[in-house]
Amino acid sequence: MKQLVVISGKGGTGKTSITAALAALAQNAVLADCDVDAADLHLLLHPTILEKEDFYSGETPTMDPVECISCGVCAEHCRFDAIDDNFQPIKENCEGCGVCEYVCPTDAVTMHPRKCGVKMVSKTRYGTMVHAELGIGEENSGKLVTDVRRTSAEIAEREGAEYVIVDGSPGVGCPVIASLTGADACLLVAEPTVSALHDLGRVVELLTHFKLPSYCVINKRGVNPELEERIATFCRERNVQIAGSLDYDKAFNEAQAAGQTIVEYDPDGLGRQVTEIWNATREFLL
Ligand code: SF4
Ligand code: SF4
Repeated sequence: MKQLVVISGKGGTGKTSITAALAALAQNAVLADCDVDAADLHLLLHPTILEKEDFYSGETPTMDPVECISCGVCAEHCRFDAIDDNFQPIKENCEGCGVCEYVCPTDAVTMHPRKCGVKMVSKTRYGTMVHAELGIGEENSGKLVTDVRRTSAEIAEREGAEYVIVDGSPGVGCPVIASLTGADACLLVAEPTVSALHDLGRVVELLTHFKLPSYCVINKRGVNPELEERIATFCRERNVQIAGSLDYDKAFNEAQAAGQTIVEYDPDGLGRQVTEIWNATREFLL
């Protein structure tokens, strides 16, 4: 079983549309949506949820109003300004350090696991999908992404799937590192803009650190040929092979609006171009 992660330095490059199209082409794959801050693979794959599990990370306090004598010691010692005037925790500010529990003179404070989100295992027309939703205001530390990755790999082993195809987290922080850990290869989606070229540089630096084989897809071909050439040159210099490129075409947006993958919506146009990219990627993964 091979794990392919699709990432881009920034949002809006077509990463999720390409991931969904690869899922359609792979046939024997488990899918993982690691973009837990703004998961949208489900909009194209319409999953039916089979299992839902709360995800806990870190701790959060509860103040017992019966035991609390409103002395204010907890608020005085909280370095994160996370206790309100009624001596109740402010969840968004709380770092779960446990100082309030330690200093409370009446043992009114109890620390307990903090619910940060929900992980789901679903059925789609292209195979099992593992996805998640981060709770409102919860920070994405990468732990939920790691859980999605681990679960998808376990399911792929169990089902005898050939691939795990991962819609990676954007950026270069902890979530994207969690998306990449344990992967066999990475497909980078870049569009020909100055900011995308800059972001590509940051992502490639990260991938070099991971020593992960990486391949690049240039999306929105035709928008700026000079920048396309600069991306191609940059990739050559950094040993990132070009897996292919995709025309700038409104069919991607139309497919999205229709809730379809591009291989379903436009099989003879962009769908054919994505198929060529998938064929090249499969060769890389052998
Ligand atoms: S756990 Fe730490 S951050 Fe949270 S309320 Fe208590 S003292 Fe403040
Ligand atoms: S330290 Fe304990 S008793 Fe004092 S205000 Fe905080 S919760 Fe209440």
